[in-house]
Amino acid sequence: MTTTTVDVKTLETQHVLQNYKRFPVVFTRGEGVRLFDETGRAYLDFLSGIGVASLGYAHPALTRAIADQAAALLHTSNLYFHPLQGQLAARLTALTGHDRAFFCNSGTEAIEACLKFARRFWFTEGQPRQKFVALAHGFHGRTMGALSVTWDDHYRAPFAPLVPTATFVETDDPAALHAAVDDTTAAIIIEPIRGEGGVRPIPSALAEAIREACARTGALLIADEVQSGSWRTGPFLHSQALGLSPDLVALAKALGGGVPVGAALLTDRIAATVVPGDHGTTYGGNLLACRAALTFLDEADRLQDSMRAASTRLFDRLHALAAARPGLIADVRGAGLIAGIEVTVDALAVVNAALARGLVINRTSGTVLRLLPPYIVTPAHVDAAIDILDQALGAAAQ
Ligand SMILES: *Cc1c(COP(=O)(O)O)cnc(C)c1O
Repeated sequence: MTTTTVDVKTLETQHVLQNYKRFPVVFTRGEGVRLFDETGRAYLDFLSGIGVASLGYAHPALTRAIADQAAALLHTSNLYFHPLQGQLAARLTALTGHDRAFFCNSGTEAIEACLKFARRFWFTEGQPRQKFVALAHGFHGRTMGALSVTWDDHYRAPFAPLVPTATFVETDDPAALHAAVDDTTAAIIIEPIRGEGGVRPIPSALAEAIREACARTGALLIADEVQSGSWRTGPFLHSQALGLSPDLVALAKALGGGVPVGAALLTDRIAATVVPGDHGTTYGGNLLACRAALTFLDEADRLQDSMRAASTRLFDRLHALAAARPGLIADVRGAGLIAGIEVTVDALAVVNAALARGLVINRTSGTVLRLLPPYIVTPAHVDAAIDILDQALGAAAQ
């Protein structure tokens, strides 16, 4: 392909819906932790396509698995028994302690499934509870249900009315959570680390309040682990680190290594209320998606020690950077291989300065730089990335 950046930009500006603000770079190839633009310039990727390319780019095992599956069978629909869904469901439920999995194509679809299964459960119970309680700074996706429990008003306002029974509570206020949850609450929905919302972990006092509120009222707990799950923070689910046992879990992003796949995990108590025809999808969990996810689980399982080493180096270097630049960095948050750096300078200027120096990161929640490196990252990659980040901060502060 010989398209230039100019061709790409012109065609997109004319014909693609203008709902994204693109950075002026066209990536055409990737290898390991590196992306290459159409001029052949290399970039160190510490965003992995927003936490999706978990095995980096052109990973040999994933590439081979996808090619083999494409040559055998890509898709058959959910009308027939499936050679891979059972295997993938068994692996996922063994990792989390759930009983069953439902497969879909994205994070927002996994959330829709969780919200519907929660409502389905209470419908069967004969007390159709409607209310959802969600958290400030939470992000759950763009479809109408997921949007209804997404906190930031600017995502929701143009699309009102949404599901009218969602309420939001601040995470530093356990009493407010207790007040919001009662015996008409279908479920509490949480992001164990709020990713889009600025890489904000849930305080342990709130985790305790969530546990108590569920026990007191019977409200179900939905954990949105689309960004925080699949080993991103260390344990397979970040809920596990918080001591929470969600009834329903949503997974996507890292799970397919770049192939679209989402999953909702359920306990048998809830799964038993779902009958054939209640919910479904044409593509969800097709052979290609399941094969990619199974390969991701095999490969990421082997990366656990090196991920821990990379994470230790990442947070050591970020805390050292914050100490060296006290006027520019207000906070460093995160766990495992998700990091948020709250800056006092223009965060977008830092992202642009980093890109100009060959490092890919992004900005979220206005003032937060977010790092979501692929799981194959090493301490040496971390050193190279933080050196560039330091220069980019310096440039943005000029
Ligand atoms: C990205 C994200 C979603 C939405 O996932 P899509 O695949 O974009 O639909 C939902 N919840 C969280 C926590 C996310 O980070």
